[in-house]
Amino acid sequence: MHLIPHWIDGAETRGPDSAPVFAPATGTERARVSVGGATEVDAAVTAAAAAFETWSESSLTQRTQVMFAFRQLLVEHEEELGRIISAEHGKTVDDARGEITRGREIVEFACGLGDVLKGSFSDQVSRGVDVHSFRQPLGVVAGITPFNFPAMVPLWMHPIAIATGNTFILKPSERDPSAANFVAALYQRAGLPDGVFNVVHGGKDAVDAILDHPGIEAVSFVGSTTIARYVHERATSHGKRVQALGGAKNHAVVLPDADLEFAADHITAGAYGSAGERCMALSVAVAVGDAADRLVAILEGKAREVTVGPGDRPGTDMGPLITRAAQERVENAVTTAHTQGATVVVDGRGLKVDGHEGGFFTGPSLLDHVTAEMDAYREELFGPVLAIVRAETLAEAIDLINANPYGNGTALFTASGEAARRFQRGVKVGMIGINVPVPVPMSYYSFGGWKDSLIGDHPIHGAEGIRFYTRPKVVTTRWPRPAQLTVAGFDFPTSD
Ligand code: NAD
Repeated sequence: MHLIPHWIDGAETRGPDSAPVFAPATGTERARVSVGGATEVDAAVTAAAAAFETWSESSLTQRTQVMFAFRQLLVEHEEELGRIISAEHGKTVDDARGEITRGREIVEFACGLGDVLKGSFSDQVSRGVDVHSFRQPLGVVAGITPFNFPAMVPLWMHPIAIATGNTFILKPSERDPSAANFVAALYQRAGLPDGVFNVVHGGKDAVDAILDHPGIEAVSFVGSTTIARYVHERATSHGKRVQALGGAKNHAVVLPDADLEFAADHITAGAYGSAGERCMALSVAVAVGDAADRLVAILEGKAREVTVGPGDRPGTDMGPLITRAAQERVENAVTTAHTQGATVVVDGRGLKVDGHEGGFFTGPSLLDHVTAEMDAYREELFGPVLAIVRAETLAEAIDLINANPYGNGTALFTASGEAARRFQRGVKVGMIGINVPVPVPMSYYSFGGWKDSLIGDHPIHGAEGIRFYTRPKVVTTRWPRPAQLTVAGFDFPTSD
């Protein structure tokens, strides 16, 4: 059985422990992944700290040249990496290529770092005195990432961290670890010095070793809210800077004036794309006023048309879930919703895919008459289940969204600019789409939710990424001519 190694100091490193990696489409073990802990993390920190000495002294030009080369390699290997992701995650190859493209946009942002990393300069703040500011890297930083975007989410982090002069340790999800090693090899081919980008595989032991290690300055985390909170508390207690993005329950609100065919089409893709395993997936549709019955009828037709199959089969819309446990959790949630009074309009439970009977498949499920008290509304199901909640007014829909503990993404479907403006100003949510179902911000904006979707106060990438991976210095300068030398006073210095 193929063993996926760690990647430390530019070389594959194998440890004594390993865990299975499954092919979700068949339900069989396809490889084993090395499982690291304190020893492997310490080795990675040692390599990254040594590399930081020279990498942080390299020029901006040198660092962005590596990013240009890395970007080109991501383009050339998109299909290959897409297939690796599809095989371990289950999503379609096209969907995997989409996540690589969105991740590559962060590399492109990092290629333009020379502009966004410019400091500031104030001339003559006092007589003969100037002030300038600039930012410097932190040192060794780490990223801990979820299974659902094995390429894109790490790409939210490492290009900006590395381009700003840090060295990086990635602890990817143990469920689909191969993309991380593939990316490490591309970085090496792009000319990145050994030790600047390292991968330590594993689970809780590796995470805890990162959170506790005194040689790591900052931790970026993306995953479920429970673990985000844990990571934030533990790492900040050691004085580390932390960005911790958590789970989601994203609502799409549909007003009666919306084009219902358009809205249903986009909500279907947003709910069932990637089998609902996206932090920006739409899991609740709030049908306002008399939009409800018509919307549900169109959504039902579209859910029944979704083609479920292995991610590498042409024509597949939606692949399997990541694990057997995830499949069971999602199907049990549909059963519970029915017990609690929801109408199961489309039932995805028990779906079998020909030739892939052992795969972790479930079909799209559509639940109507869901209320805020039901488990299907309160819990992040992270699967292909769309819950319809009915509301009388837009104000009621906004109140519903704001009462939900999560605040990652939301979308409004309407023809009214006035309603859209009221919605975007009123919802306590970080990322908002107006007639856009999955409003993932571009690389030069930051990504992050509100409330339980973001623990602490650091969103990810864009200007926030630069701020997160650097710290500022402000320099006050005087170059006096001999005649201008003044006597220092004992009072607190002020400008004159
Ligand atoms: P997860 O929280 O189970 O795992 C994330 C990372 O934490 C993995 O690397 C995992 O190895 C590690 N981990 C898991 N349990 C741990 C523990 N007890 N102690 C220490 N580390 C632990 O998340 P997941 O299932 O891989 O991913 C799905 C979740 O991620 C969903 O909740 C989804 O909403 C969220 N997510 C959020 C965003 C966002 O931008 N807000 C993006 C992608 C995914």
